Amino acid sequence: MTLSPSFAFSQSSLSAYAACPRRFQLRHVSGQAWPAVQEVLERERMLDLARRFHHLVQQHVSGLSADPLTRAAQEEDADLARWWGNYLAHPVPGLPTDRRAEVVLSMPMGAHRLLAKYDLLALDPARAVIVDWKTAPRPPGREDLLRRLQTRVYRYLLVEAGATLVGRPFAPGQVTMVYWFAERPAHPQILPYDAAQHAEDGRTLSGMIAEIEAETAFPMTAEETRCRFCAYRSLCVRGGGGGTGEEVDLEEDEGIEPEKEEDVA
Ligand code: SF4
Repeated sequence: MTLSPSFAFSQSSLSAYAACPRRFQLRHVSGQAWPAVQEVLERERMLDLARRFHHLVQQHVSGLSADPLTRAAQEEDADLARWWGNYLAHPVPGLPTDRRAEVVLSMPMGAHRLLAKYDLLALDPARAVIVDWKTAPRPPGREDLLRRLQTRVYRYLLVEAGATLVGRPFAPGQVTMVYWFAERPAHPQILPYDAAQHAEDGRTLSGMIAEIEAETAFPMTAEETRCRFCAYRSLCVRGGGGGTGEEVDLEEDEGIEPEKEEDVA
């Protein structure tokens, strides 16, 4: 079984491959569903809450007033209401005023496409700010975020494909990525970009995609600590039962809405 020609690489699928080729194969080549175990139900609950939070923010960015959204959050779930309150009380400072939620950009890479769905892009003629809302209970540190494929894919793709947004490309030095944490809202991580990192990201991402496209064996990772929380561990006989999926990005399962996609030919 091989990758579908219509498959598009995203930060989550590249992250799955970087953690374990077998995990990539199970999820994205075989389409293997998460094993249905109790722990996964809690993961699904958190995924659902994260999606609802993203939807509230999307509605707010699109112009809905905060009051009805606050009431909806309070009626739905205490965690959701708390995250929403933190969002209102601690906005990301200094964002450009042209704000667009849930934007998808993609570009050709290898025999497939590289694709990203941005929670929020805030734009003006001189700069582009990527904002990513994170609802995980333990926010990662700055060095971890800088190494993440999400950071590398999002900033790289905005430079390469962002001309479709404003009619001309952004230079790497005009791009910043901000991670905002629902559980630590007063301490966003702000990650600027530059030409040297952009060139390195291009080499890394195209090299990874070429490697995956040529892969046929998809071996299990040799680092068994990565299996500890993996939802597929029962399939791989790496520990009893399914894992919690905690180390898998909560956004991995988020669908892409094709009508929002802004492709670069
Ligand atoms: S259980 Fe381990 S070997 Fe199997 S897919 Fe998950 S990370 Fe890879």
